[in-house]
Amino acid sequence: MHVEDITRSVRAHHKWFSESLPLIASENITSPAVRQLLASDFGHRYAEGKVGHRYYQGVKYIDEVEQYAIDLALKLFRAEHVNVQPISGVNANIAAFFALSSQNDVLMALDTSHGGHLSHGTKSGPGIRHLRIVKHPFDYEEMNIDTDAMVSTIYEKKPKIVLFGASLFLFPHPVKEAYDAARDVGATIVYDAAHVLGLIAGEQFQDPLNEGVDVMTGSTHKTFPGPQHGIIFTTRALADAIDDAVFPGTVSNHHLHHVAGLAVTLVEMLEFGKAYAQQTIKNAKTLGAALHDHGFNVLCPEKEFTESHQIVLDVGRASAMAVALEKANIIANKNLLPWDDHNAPENPSGIRFGTQELTRLGMKESEMRVVAGLVARVLNGKAPEKVKKDVVEFKNNYQEVEYCFSHELGAYQFPAW
Ligand SMILES: *Cc1c(COP(=O)(O)O)cnc(C)c1O
Repeated sequence: MHVEDITRSVRAHHKWFSESLPLIASENITSPAVRQLLASDFGHRYAEGKVGHRYYQGVKYIDEVEQYAIDLALKLFRAEHVNVQPISGVNANIAAFFALSSQNDVLMALDTSHGGHLSHGTKSGPGIRHLRIVKHPFDYEEMNIDTDAMVSTIYEKKPKIVLFGASLFLFPHPVKEAYDAARDVGATIVYDAAHVLGLIAGEQFQDPLNEGVDVMTGSTHKTFPGPQHGIIFTTRALADAIDDAVFPGTVSNHHLHHVAGLAVTLVEMLEFGKAYAQQTIKNAKTLGAALHDHGFNVLCPEKEFTESHQIVLDVGRASAMAVALEKANIIANKNLLPWDDHNAPENPSGIRFGTQELTRLGMKESEMRVVAGLVARVLNGKAPEKVKKDVVEFKNNYQEVEYCFSHELGAYQFPAW
C-alpha cells in the first residue's frame, strides 16, 4: 500500500462527485474559504475548556475564532446561549440528554420508521442514559406528529423530555401545541434541528427557539452548509447544565479547524442564508411536482410535497432503485416509510431526495425539472449507463459553490484536487 493509492482513491471520488447529482438530504458542500480553514493548523491543536478559561497554552487566536463563532451564532439564530463545541449532531443530542434527564426518565421521540433518528432511540444516547422511550403518535396522511394525540400522550406518560425534529422531515413539528402540556408535566422541550438548521437560519422554517423550546441541537453540515460539526442552543437558565454536559461531559477537544469553518459559514449565512433557504425549499417543491407529473408517488401532493429541503417517493423496491440511480451518477438513499416492515430496514420502499446541495451549486427551478427528467428515466427502467452520460454533461455547468464570498477571496482558493 502506497500513499498514492490512497490519494488516487480520493481523487477518483472527487471526479465522480463533480460528475454526479448529490441528492442525499443530510449532506452539503462547504465554500472554498471553509475548505482552506479545514486544512489549517487549528486541526492539530487542543483547547479544552471555554474561551478565556483553557487548560492548554497556545490558544490566543483559537480563542478569538471561537468567540467569533459564538457571537455570530447568537446573532444569526437570535439565541440566548450557544455551545459550539459538540463535534456532531449525535454528540449534541447525547449532551442534551445527559444534561436534562436521569436514569429511567421518559423520553418522548419519533420512531425511526416515522422519521426519527437513530440517536433518538435506545441503540444510541437514550440507551446510554437508560431512558424509557415513548413514541410520538404519527399521522401517516399528514406525514407529521398527530397533535391531539401528542398532547394526551404527554399528560398520560409525563415525559422528562419531549423531543422534536427528525431525519425524514417534510413539515414543521407542533412545538407550540406541546408547550402547555410539557410545562404542566414538568418536561423540557428539545428540538433536534440537524436537518433543518440552515432553513431555520434563513427564517424559512419554524423558529423553535421562539416557539418555546428549551434546547435546540443541530448538525452544521446538512441544510446549514458548514463543516461536519454539532451545535447546541439553549436558554440562559440551562446554559451551565448544557455547557457542563458538553465539556467535560461528552467532548474533550472540539475539532478547532471545524470551529473556524463554522464561523465562516455563519458569516455566509448571515449574508446569504435567507436567499439560500428560500431557493432550497422552492427547489424541493419543484422537484416534487415534476416527479409527480412524471407519474411517481411523491408523498403529500395536497400539501405541495414539502415545506423543507426534502421530498419522499414511495417506489416499492427502493434498494434496487437507489443502486440503479447510483449507476447513473444520481446519489440518493433508500428510506424506511411508516407503512414499511420495521423489522426489515434494509428493504424499505421510500427514496428521499434533498435539494440543499444542488441549490448551493446554483441550481434553480428549471434545473430541478431537468433533474426530475433524469431521475424519471432511471426509475422507469432505462439503462442507467445511458442516463449517466446526460448527467455528466448537465453537471459540468454546476461546479461553483454559490451563496458565499469565495469568488472574491482569491487568496483562499482551495488547492485543487
Ligand atoms: C443527521 C442527524 C443527526 C446526526 O448528526 P451527525 O452530525 O451525523 O452526528 C441527528 N439527528 C437527526 C434528526 C439527524 O437527521
